[in-house]
Amino acid sequence: MALIHILDSQTIDQIAAGEVVERPSSVVKELVENSMDAGADAITVEIKDGGIELIRVTDNGCGILKEDLPNAFLRHATSKIRTAEDLSKVLSMGFRGEALGSIAAVAKVELISKHRDALMGNRYVIEGGIEKESDEVGAPDGTTIVVRNLFYNTPARRKFLKTTATEGGYVADLMEHLAMSRPDISYTFIQNRQVKFSTSGNGDLKEVIYHIYGKDTAREIIPIISNQDGMTIEGYLGTPVNARSNRNFENYFINRRYIKSNLIAKGIEEGYKAYMMQHRFPFCVLHITMDTQEVDVNVHPSKMDVRFHDQQQFMDFIIKAVAETLSAREMIADCDLVPEKEEKKLSKEAPEPFEHNRRESEDTHKKTAMLQKILEPKPVGKVTKPVPKNNILKERDHIFVERPVQMELFDKQRVLSESSRKQYKIIGQIFDTYWLFELGDNLYFIDQHAAHEKVNYERLMKQLKEDHVYRQQLNPPIVVTVTGIERQVLSEAMEYFAELGFEIEEFGGNEYAIRTIPLELYLNDPKDMFLETLNELAETGLTGTPEIICQRIATMACKASVKGNMKVSLTEIDALLDELLTLENPYHCPHGRPTIFAMSKYDIEKKFKRIV
Ligand code: ADP
Ligand code: MG
Repeated sequence: MALIHILDSQTIDQIAAGEVVERPSSVVKELVENSMDAGADAITVEIKDGGIELIRVTDNGCGILKEDLPNAFLRHATSKIRTAEDLSKVLSMGFRGEALGSIAAVAKVELISKHRDALMGNRYVIEGGIEKESDEVGAPDGTTIVVRNLFYNTPARRKFLKTTATEGGYVADLMEHLAMSRPDISYTFIQNRQVKFSTSGNGDLKEVIYHIYGKDTAREIIPIISNQDGMTIEGYLGTPVNARSNRNFENYFINRRYIKSNLIAKGIEEGYKAYMMQHRFPFCVLHITMDTQEVDVNVHPSKMDVRFHDQQQFMDFIIKAVAETLSAREMIADCDLVPEKEEKKLSKEAPEPFEHNRRESEDTHKKTAMLQKILEPKPVGKVTKPVPKNNILKERDHIFVERPVQMELFDKQRVLSESSRKQYKIIGQIFDTYWLFELGDNLYFIDQHAAHEKVNYERLMKQLKEDHVYRQQLNPPIVVTVTGIERQVLSEAMEYFAELGFEIEEFGGNEYAIRTIPLELYLNDPKDMFLETLNELAETGLTGTPEIICQRIATMACKASVKGNMKVSLTEIDALLDELLTLENPYHCPHGRPTIFAMSKYDIEKKFKRIV
């Protein structure tokens, strides 16, 4: 019987799609970035049911030629770079050539495009990676892509999506950032047939801020512009009146790309230090421009994270620019700091959502827009902010009332049990260390290190009991140099180490060669893990029964093997939780530290003074 299968190309595409397409907002991001790259200056995005049912992106960009249509959906097919060298100077938003192929692998996609130079447009339908239709159609210049029924063929992924309201909120949040990233592009965002916002594309960032955050916020902002060493910061800083209780209002873009960076956040906050109360965060919209060689955006497919070549210099620049702008403002506090632009370019025309066989009336968009105008006395109103993300956990000023999990708690419903398992709602990871999940009326915190340690330890102990420890061969063996005391302890403890799966040989002098280690501990740096274990053993000494000594060594080794921040994926934590819940006592790590604690809805409501 064959055990190893080669996956078919559709399965491979679906797996690869997971990296680019996580949820509706990631689809919208990729599609809008393609429109930007196509030189569009007007982009309309429409979603229904959080984008799960429908996403439609229409642009007035260059369009795609008929002969390029099928290629656009191939993975690693791109018109934007040719070699890896181009990566360092890439200016376009996309460049991996993965998006369209990935999206088409997990949804039903209809693309209508007309290249500027072509007489006719073309329509191309692809579902689950399989071409369904391709024909010529009359169409305006530009491209419309309709993505329906996201993850219809990958139910496991679909299950991970949140409610349509939450997913819609993510898309709205993304659209706001896209609009701020490019004030020179006219964006229209329609959600469930309602125009949520529409920007003019006249290049005025302040006007975009007004459309998104409303009048009150736009009134309390001051312009910033600063240059140094080829870097520029331009945009608006909120005055302290605009301070917020979380970081969600710190918006910054590098070379027009929206990113998240602890470094930049820290720089901004440092610059604001003299003007901000503790636990308050500024509002700002900053455009940072720098040489593409100085910054690396090719860190992650979602391109949200960046690395800087000269962090310190960059950080100093931000702090100084922010602090100086704020202090200069104080001296001229009475001036009108935000002069109106003398002249405003005409608004661009938003491209009409275009689609073959549109299901609803062609006029929906026009009607909605008109209705919106009638309902609002002014053409621009304050946009309702979308549902906040689970940001509460990012707040700096939370003081949780920790309540250790009591065993009685589990009498009714054991949290770490098979039956509860299906009802978990995993919320995510914080501080690279803790995982949060919701169950019933409690929010649970799991320490991933403690959990990992516990699982490894239990596995190792079980194997020891069954007299069958799995070893991992180290090839070549690692050579460690030990100190005098360590040498002493090691020679005494050699047999215990051997029982646990460490095969160690004297190598002459103070050197030992390690040929195998327990398989369960083969995670990080085996050399560090071994030395740390030995070091700790040297400190505690060898006392107790052989069983106790073995357990102690295992405990130390498990701890050493999971040390340091490990980036763990959702799938991995899922598997870890699965295993954790099969254990007798999953609630404490081998060191006795808790692996999990809970905070009740009651505690949270009290904190918010909903309950007095
Ligand atoms: P990438 O953007 O990384 O090149 P994609 O899969 O997103 O990869 O797109 C593949 C190709 O399809 C692009 O390189 C571009 O040539 C073309 N394309 C995609 N969307 C558009 C659009 N809206 N207008 C014009 N061309 C597009
Ligand atoms: Mg792209």
